[in-house]
Amino acid sequence: VVIIGGGFGGLYAAQALAAAPVRVLVIDRRNHHVFQPLLYQVATATLSPSDIAQPIRSILRFQKNCEVVLAEVTAIDRGKRQVVLADERIDFDFLIVATGAIHSYFGHDQWAQYAPGLKTLEDAIEMRRRVLCAFEAAERQTQPEQQRALLTFVVIGGGPTGVELAGALAELSRIALARDFRHIDPALARIVLLQGGPRILPTYPAELSTSALTQLRELGVEVRLDAIVTSIDASGANVGDTRIDSQTVIWCAGVKASPLAASLGVALRKDGRVDVTSQLTLPGDDRVFVIGDLAAIESNGQLVPGVAAAAIQMGRHAARAIRKSLASEVQSVFHYQDKGSLATIGRSRAIAIFPPQFQLRGAVAWWAWLLIHVALLIGFRNRVVVLVQWAWAYFTFRRGARLITGSSSKPGPPTQ
Ligand SMILES: Cc1cc2nc3c(=O)[nH]c(=O)nc-3n(C[C@H](O)[C@H](O)[C@H](O)COP(=O)(O)OP(=O)(O)OC[C@H]3O[C@@H](n4cnc5c(N)ncnc54)[C@H](O)[C@@H]3O)c2cc1C
Repeated sequence: VVIIGGGFGGLYAAQALAAAPVRVLVIDRRNHHVFQPLLYQVATATLSPSDIAQPIRSILRFQKNCEVVLAEVTAIDRGKRQVVLADERIDFDFLIVATGAIHSYFGHDQWAQYAPGLKTLEDAIEMRRRVLCAFEAAERQTQPEQQRALLTFVVIGGGPTGVELAGALAELSRIALARDFRHIDPALARIVLLQGGPRILPTYPAELSTSALTQLRELGVEVRLDAIVTSIDASGANVGDTRIDSQTVIWCAGVKASPLAASLGVALRKDGRVDVTSQLTLPGDDRVFVIGDLAAIESNGQLVPGVAAAAIQMGRHAARAIRKSLASEVQSVFHYQDKGSLATIGRSRAIAIFPPQFQLRGAVAWWAWLLIHVALLIGFRNRVVVLVQWAWAYFTFRRGARLITGSSSKPGPPTQ
C-alpha cells in the first residue's frame, strides 16, 4: 500500500494498517507531520516549530510493516500502477492519495509574494519573521506615515485561521510586546481583518459569528465585513477605492486542492478536489483512494469539510476498506462524524459548537479548545512542551518563541 502524504489523512491511514497483512510505504516531501491547527501560534511566536511537528519516521517507528520515504511525488501513473518520483517509480497494489490543499489566490498568484499564506512550518516561520521585523523597523522609523504602515497588519480572510491570527496578533502587540520598545508603542498597532462576506466564521451559526466578532473587537481588531480585496502590492492592499498601507499583509482567504490530483486522470472540481465514491475510491478504480482535503464527498447530505477530523476519519476508513478487500468482506460506506468545531480568538476567548447544537463561547470555549488541542497533538513531548509554553504565556503574558530567523531582517518579502 503506497500512501502519498504524511498529514492527518495519510498518517492515520498508515497507523490503521498496522495489523494488516500488507507492506505500507508512506511518501512525503517533508520529513515531518505538522499539526496545522496550531501553525498560527508559531507565526505569532507563542510556540516553536518543533512543538507542533514530529518526524513521520519517528511517529511510525514501531510499526514494523511500514516504511517512510522522503520524496516529492511528481505524478501518478494509474495505467502502470506506479507513483512517479524524480528519480524512481514505485509500484503499488493499493494507493492512498492524501496530499491535502495549497493556498489559492483566486487567479491572482502574483499576490502570493506580498501576502503569504499559512500552510507549512516554513510559512509560519516566514510570517513570524515579517511580523517581528515590522516592529523592529517601526522602532527605527522616524516618518510617522511609514511608521504607521509598519505597524499596520492586514489579515485577509475571516475564516478560522484569519480570526485566530488576527486575535493572536492583537495580543502579541497589546500584551506580549507592550514594554519592549522605546520609540514606539506596539499596543498602537492596527490589526485589520478583511472578510469578503457579511460575517466572519461563516460556517458557524450566526450567533457564534457575532460572538466572535464582538470578542475580536474587544481585543482591538478592526474587522471589516463585505470587504473584497481588489489588489495587493509591496506596500499594502486595496479594498475597492480604499487603500490600506501596510508592510505585513497575510492571506487566509482560500485554499485549493493539491496539484497532484491533476495526474489522476479524472475530472476535477473547480477547487481541484476529486469526486470520490462512497468508499473514498476513484470511480471505476477501487484500489485508488483519495482522502482528506483532496477528496470531495457528501455525507449526511452535506459536503464533508476540509478539517483534520474528516481527514483522520477518511484515513481510517480507507485502511479499513483495504483490510476488507483483502479479506473479501463487504465494503462499508463512508460517513463523516462531526465531532464539533472550535475557533480561538485569544486568551480566554473562543467559540465552539458540538453537535447537534451545543454552543460555548468565551472562557469555557477557550478551555475546551485548549484541552482538545493538547490531546490531539501527536507525541507526548509535544503535549508536555505545548502545555508548558501555554502556561508560561498565560501567567507571564510573554511569548517564548520571538525569534527572527530567515534570509532577511527587513520587513515584507525577503527579496526587498
Ligand atoms: C493554518 C491552518 C489551520 C487549521 N486549523 C484547523 C482546525 O483548527 N481544526 C481542523 O479540524 N482543521 C484545521 N485545519 C485543516 C486541517 O489541517 C486539514 O483539513 C488537514 O490537515 C487535511 O489533512 P490531509 O491529510 O488531507 O492533508 P495535510 O494534513 O495537509 O497533509 C498533506 C501532506 O501531503 C504532503 N504532500 C503534498 N504534496 C505532496 C507531494 N507531491 N509529494 C509528497 N508529499 C506531498 C505534505 O507535505 C503533507 O505532509 C487547518 C489548516 C490550516 C492550514
